[in-house]
Amino acid sequence: MFSLKNRVAIVTGGASGIGRGIVESLVEAGATVVIADLNEAAAQHTAQEVGAHAKKLDVTNREQVRTVFAEVHEEFGQIDVLCANAGIFPQAGLDTLTDEQWDTIFTVNTKSTFITVQEALKFMKPRKYGRIVITTSITGSHTGYPGWSHYGATKAAQQGFMRGASLEVARDGITINGVLPGNILTDGLRDQGEEYLAQMARGIPALRLGDPRDIGNAAAFLASTEAGYITGQTLIVDGGQILPESPEAILQAE
Ligand code: NAP
Repeated sequence: MFSLKNRVAIVTGGASGIGRGIVESLVEAGATVVIADLNEAAAQHTAQEVGAHAKKLDVTNREQVRTVFAEVHEEFGQIDVLCANAGIFPQAGLDTLTDEQWDTIFTVNTKSTFITVQEALKFMKPRKYGRIVITTSITGSHTGYPGWSHYGATKAAQQGFMRGASLEVARDGITINGVLPGNILTDGLRDQGEEYLAQMARGIPALRLGDPRDIGNAAAFLASTEAGYITGQTLIVDGGQILPESPEAILQAE
């Protein structure tokens, strides 16, 4: 029903994984998409494959974000959509988690959300139009996992930021929402092997892991003009993963 024709979108971390799924969905909906990713070679490769554009960007670097967003604005005339998706998820148990690891993950996942949103708003506010979609997670706000307490904290923090920020720009025609992926089949997960993946899938009511396009399609909707009355919200895309009261609740459905 909706179209993103004539819309210009930036997707951070769009070279691979979920970001790539978002890029594909936005391109398919007609948007001009710029992948802004630390991994320049992968960004170029993906851009070529899907019909997008690529720029090298470290989202933790304020000056780089400023420069790249200004370039996008200069080259394409506007910035309508920001998908703040780049993120990392190194495992570290509480016994060994260091201050440095804590600070790093908060810088990459949470501070970068603040930086990219703030810089994008400079281009959106004067036009009284903008759609911002943050890739957060069910981890932290809804679930927890041993070894990822620091990661969960960054993802829950993104959602707190989103709620306050969305209120500040609500009267500027700008929405800020979050997509919360469950377990999505990306290259990192694929490396864990078939048996591990099958076991994970058994714990999900939909009995499959998510595809990056499942997240991309949700993000594309939230990025559309038609989603303009939705702001400060989270959309869980997890195949029902957080619903069951117990493992038996999944077995009962068989
Ligand atoms: P991914 O496959 O590792 O892709 C992330 C991309 O972001 C990579 O291209 C990576 O480049 C890039 N990147 C990393 N640090 C960056 C930085 N400082 N500046 C710019 N780009 C950077 O990750 P993913 O699994 O798709 O995850 C994407 C987002 O989804 C993250 O925010 C994550 O928390 C969230 N998420 C993922 C899952 C899941 O199941 N995969 C579930 C819930 C939420 P390099 O290749 O150089 O590292």
